[in-house]
Amino acid sequence: MTIAERISEIKNELPANVTLVAVSKTKPSTMIQEAYNAGQRHFGENKVQEMVDKYSSLPNDIHWHLIGHLQTNKVKYIAPFVSLIHSVDSLKLLIEINKQAMKFDRIINCLLQFHIAEEETKFGLSEEEGINLVSDPLLNTLQNINVIGVMGMASFTENTEQVRSEFAHLKHIFEGLKKDHFSKKNDFKEISMGMSGDYELAIEEGSTMIRVGSSIFGDR
Ligand SMILES: *Cc1c(COP(=O)(O)O)cnc(C)c1O
Repeated sequence: MTIAERISEIKNELPANVTLVAVSKTKPSTMIQEAYNAGQRHFGENKVQEMVDKYSSLPNDIHWHLIGHLQTNKVKYIAPFVSLIHSVDSLKLLIEINKQAMKFDRIINCLLQFHIAEEETKFGLSEEEGINLVSDPLLNTLQNINVIGVMGMASFTENTEQVRSEFAHLKHIFEGLKKDHFSKKNDFKEISMGMSGDYELAIEEGSTMIRVGSSIFGDR
C-alpha cells in the first residue's frame, strides 16, 4: 500500500472529532511530501532539530506537532512555528514556552503530558503533579501559552484491558481538570492518545487526537 492509501484507510475509520497526527520522525521529507500531497496536514516529530530541518524544507501550511520530550533550552528553535506541543510536563517548561512565544508575538498551544503507563521510563506528570501545576497562580499570568488538553502513552503490552484502563485513566484526569480548572475554557478539549498499535482502543476511550507513525510510513 502507498502512504496515501494508508492515510485514507485510517481516516475512513475516524470519527469527525478526531485529528490524525502523522508521526514522521526518522522518515525523510519526501515521505512527508507524499502524505501532504494526499491531503495530510498534521505531522508529529519527537526531536527539535529534525522538526526544524523538515519545517524549513516543506510547505508552510503544515501543522507541526512536537510529541517528544522538550528541553527548555531548545524551545526557542520551535517557537516561531510549532502548532502544538504535546509533551509539557513542568511549569518551568511552560514559562519558557511563554517567554519564547512572546518574542514571536504568538500564542503556543500546549498539552500536559501525563504518565499513565506502567513502564517507568516514560515521561509525564502524575495526576497530583498535574493538579498542582494547573492550580499554580502563575499559570494565569502566562498570556502567550494556551493549555488545550492532555496527552499520554499507554503501556507497550498485548494486554488490551490494561491499555484500555490506562486510556480511561487519562480521560478521567482530563475530565477532572476540565471540571475543576478549565470549566469556562472551551478550547480545553483535546485528549491526545493512541498510536499505531492502539488507536482504535484510544478512540473508544475518548481520544480526540491520535499519533500514528509506523502504520502510515512503515517500520522505523
Ligand atoms: C513514535 C511516537 C508515536 C507513533 O508511534 P507508532 O507506533 O509508530 O504509531 C506516537 N507518539 C509518540 C509520543 C511517539 O514518540
